[in-house]
Amino acid sequence: MTTQNPHYPNLLAPLDLGHTTLKNRVLMGSMHTGLEDKAKDFDKLAAYFAERARGGVALMVTGGFSPNMEGWFYPFASKLSAKREVARHRKVTEAVHAEDGKICMQILHAGRYSYHPLSVSASGVKSPINPFKPRELSEWGIWRQIKAFVRAAKLAKEAGYDGVEVMGSEGYFINQFTCPRTNQREDRWGGSIENRCRLPVEIVSRIRKEVGEDFIIVYRLSMLDLVEGGNTWDEVVYQGKAIEAAGASLINTGIGWHEARVPTIVTSVPRAAFAKVSARMKKELKIPVVTTNRINDPQVGEDLIAGGSCDMVSMARPLLADPFFVTKAAAGKADEINTCIACNQACLDHTFQMKRASCLVNPRACHETELVFAPVTQKKNLAVVGAGPAGLAFATEAARRGHQVTLFDSAPEIGGQFNMAKRIPGKEEFHQTLRYFSKQIELTGVKLELNRRVEAVDLKDFDEVILATGIAPRTPQIPGIDHPKVLSYIDVLLKGAAVGDTVAVIGAGGIGFDVSEFLVHEGESPALNTEAWFKEWGVDIEVKQRGGLDPQAKQPHPPARKVYLMQRKDEALGKNLGKTSGWVHRATLKDKKVTMVGGVSYDKIDDAGLHITVNQEPRVIDCDNVIICAGQEPLRELQAGVEALGKPVHLVGGADVASELDAKRAIKQASELAAKI
Ligand code: FAD
Ligand code: NAP
Ligand code: SF4
Repeated sequence: MTTQNPHYPNLLAPLDLGHTTLKNRVLMGSMHTGLEDKAKDFDKLAAYFAERARGGVALMVTGGFSPNMEGWFYPFASKLSAKREVARHRKVTEAVHAEDGKICMQILHAGRYSYHPLSVSASGVKSPINPFKPRELSEWGIWRQIKAFVRAAKLAKEAGYDGVEVMGSEGYFINQFTCPRTNQREDRWGGSIENRCRLPVEIVSRIRKEVGEDFIIVYRLSMLDLVEGGNTWDEVVYQGKAIEAAGASLINTGIGWHEARVPTIVTSVPRAAFAKVSARMKKELKIPVVTTNRINDPQVGEDLIAGGSCDMVSMARPLLADPFFVTKAAAGKADEINTCIACNQACLDHTFQMKRASCLVNPRACHETELVFAPVTQKKNLAVVGAGPAGLAFATEAARRGHQVTLFDSAPEIGGQFNMAKRIPGKEEFHQTLRYFSKQIELTGVKLELNRRVEAVDLKDFDEVILATGIAPRTPQIPGIDHPKVLSYIDVLLKGAAVGDTVAVIGAGGIGFDVSEFLVHEGESPALNTEAWFKEWGVDIEVKQRGGLDPQAKQPHPPARKVYLMQRKDEALGKNLGKTSGWVHRATLKDKKVTMVGGVSYDKIDDAGLHITVNQEPRVIDCDNVIICAGQEPLRELQAGVEALGKPVHLVGGADVASELDAKRAIKQASELAAKI
């Protein structure tokens, strides 16, 4: 008999699937890492999964493997359709089983999301996010796809996987059959929900027949499509029951198509926002239901299971951020978890840029064999100046390896610019990174000296110096820049400067957008209140309307003030924001009636406001304040002085290069230095 975990008795209770028992209720959801596509990367993929199996997760799902070429994401992307492709997968399954883990392979047919001209779908309806129009499948063509799914499952079993996940959500091939949005067929595969559901039912029942009873089949069911022409709740329930009857072992929750214009996983989505739909589905089914999306904390998972919302919790990115999430939770050490902040910057954004995924807060993710923190052979006495993300990452990793580390910051708290980021509505998760580092400082024995502005001479007794002093904000040379109505983003975000009712923001980079969001919101952040957030985006969580979208329900909170956001470049504002999150920022500011102006030249600032010229037309923006968010310059005033002391100096983060700096680069660069110093 297993004993109950005292900290998370429900989350960490075993789950009996009949033929096998999962050791707890945590499933690592599927993520494409970029290591799946080439045989040569499977050793790295195996190390990535083995580390997470060691970290105690009950069941993992691989990134998607297409069952054939038509379903390829893009040419030569991951696929399992031939016997010769099986051997490489054994590296993964053997490594996972050696760590007492379990792993399912996801079978993902992209349908009209395939980025190549041979894509196929239920009907020839092009996706708004893909230039290729799919070919409508014939009856024969549909059976070819079904057989390919079954063959992939059979090969996955041969490769040693514990099961498969059939991807039926997120707007991929199967979802394209189940929804009227993309299924306009008039034969027995289209029309009624019974007909639209025929494809997944045939796939799941034939897989079950092929693989036998002792193999896990997870089905990812689109419970909330979040697109027009999605399914109604009754239709979703019909699907769930039909898939259960076809032989699935677990139903996993899918939320939103990729083309949906409602955010589903970015950091401004409230934690566990969509768990309600899984809870409703659980009442309809006998097999276990997995809930998902924005669950990054063991207590949230515990509460969901204890409250009967689901039987398991899927966490994908949180296990990129911390492979040892489960073992830390089990030991009552949740404060040591490196929490996923849902930024998407190093994971999903990389995937969409065809780069290997990693994690902003954990650059080791998907680089387990390359970024290795070995114990030191020669202990050094190191000074780190600056406790922003770069200084924190360096100091804690170097100390963990065995160096003696002193970390200085002139501010009263650690975090550097993250202390501004965490104040932006929708970026509350950034607090978690600071909590994590604070705990790591304690655990690794870093000597922390806050409220200490360091001069070069203070560093004379150290062996080496790491300058992580960050940046100085750029002050543009505009006549009137000293006018009392001019503020910097630091005045507003850190020093709490009072801001009037009409504001002009100069600079539309990440900080200009964030400052604008800060200024238009008032009261509780919608990221902390699920019902308020549904109103911001028009989500009908009861799914009374098709796809769970209700234009009547969309009632964004009115803006707290009038904001003008400006840049000199004559192009759409926010073009360089994150690939998978930039559109959310743009849509939010649009809903808050922010006026965005490109192609601006700034003439002067005076009592009348900000004088600009756009398209050769002079204009005055009558505003109470002008807030400068015009980029940053490296702050390395200590460098020459420390070098004069004859000490080796290393620059990391903003102190090294301020242009296009973000925390992803700062933490990665600092961690790499910590691994080799
Ligand atoms: P900093 O964070 O600037 O830290 C430098 C530290 O050095 C400071 O704490 C400073 O007090 C200290 N210091 C300087 N000189 C001395 C001295 N002489 N003695 C002692 N201490 C000294 N990045 C992202 O990746 N994603 C985001 O979503 C994001 N959002 C942001 C939102 C806002 C509002 C802001 C302002 C920034 C955001 N960033 C974001 C940027 C990110 O915070 C920075 O890239 C990151 O903080 C840079 O880290 P750093 O350690 O190099 O420098
Ligand atoms: P940024 O992205 O470089 O943007 C600076 C803005 O100021 C640009 O819009 C630029 O546009 C303008 N600008 C530059 N020089 C100017 C001048 N002399 N006069 C007037 N305007 C000028 O920098 P940032 O917004 O300060 O952000 C700093 C870093 O933090 C960024 O690199 C970003 O990656 C990171 N960050 C990221 C996020 C995120 O969500 N991922 C959020 C916040 C910050 P024009 O030159 O066209 O006017
Ligand atoms: Fe989470 Fe950001 Fe890391 Fe992705 S990059 S796993 S979203 S913290």
